[in-house]
Parts: sequence; C-alpha cells; structure tokens
Amino acid sequence: MSTAAARLCVECGMCCNGVMFSIVKLQPGESAKALGALGLKVKRGTFAQPCTALEGLRCSIYAQRPTRCRLFECQQLKRVAEGTITEATALAAIREAHRRVAELEALLEKAGGSNPRKSLFHRCITVLAELPTSELREDLAKAMESLEAMLDADFRVAQLA
Ligand code: SF4
Ligand code: SF4
Repeated sequence: MSTAAARLCVECGMCCNGVMFSIVKLQPGESAKALGALGLKVKRGTFAQPCTALEGLRCSIYAQRPTRCRLFECQQLKRVAEGTITEATALAAIREAHRRVAELEALLEKAGGSNPRKSLFHRCITVLAELPTSELREDLAKAMESLEAMLDADFRVAQLA
C-alpha cells in the first residue's frame, strides 16, 4: 500500500463498509474455509458488505485480506498515484462522499430505518420499493442518485471477475 493510500483509506472505508459494493468475490485458489476462520461470512464464493472484518475504518485482517481487497485501488488512489490530483483533493472527495452518505442515511432513518447489515444500495432499493409517493421518497431517490453518480465517477473502477 502506498503511503497516500495508507493515509486516505483510514479516512474513508467506503470500499469495505457497504457504501460502494454489496459483495466481494473470492478469487480462484482462495479458501472460503480459511477466510471464514478469519471472520468473513463466505457464501457461494462471495462475502457480503458491510464487511465483518471492518473495525471502524480499518481492516482487522489486513495482512490476510482476500486477493480482491489487495488488488483494489479506487479512482482517487489511482489519480493520486498518477499525480493528476493531490492527496488533499482526494481527501476532499472522500469527505464529500461521506457527506452524501450521511444525508442518505438520515433519509433512510426518516423513512423508518433499514437493515444496517445490508449494503447501502440494497437498503435504499428496499425502502424505495415500499415507500409511497411522497416528498421523502423523492428526496431519498435524489440523494441515492447523487451518491451513486459520485461513486461511479470518482471511486469505482471496473470490477475484476
Ligand atoms: S474507496 Fe479508495 S480511498 Fe476509500 S478505502 Fe477504498 S481504496 Fe481507500
Ligand atoms: S477483508 Fe478487509 S479489506 Fe477486504 S472488504 Fe473486508 S475490511 Fe475491507
């Protein structure tokens, strides 16, 4: 991990806490049993997010984390490594994404809450499916769209198989 990544990831956590992804796929050769023994809930070759190994904003099994986690580098980290943005700019993007997540969480709470063990996207879809047409529903849909647009534009990268 680069020093920039070491500094930025502990301020972020979004690729582990269910904000960016719903599942992570194990890669060929990885042992579901061994990862399960470390506390990951592996089912049919994937484990769900929010990740059970995340403690605060840190991975509690960092040295033994799955391959997919080792290889993942979000767009912010890539841009810092390429020198197209500074670390401060990346941190500002992380802060803005967190602001949008907090806004969405507050709206979900207002709508009656949702299962925090599911990914944020899954929680939004579930609540939206049940919420009657209202200002709250509209606000929730807009907040979800705004966060998803930012995650796609500034954080997610094409997934490995
Ligand atoms: S989304 Fe990027 S900055 Fe955030 S924890 Fe993941 S790799 Fe680190
Ligand atoms: S194993 Fe660690 S790096 Fe991988 S998703 Fe879980 S907390 Fe994140």
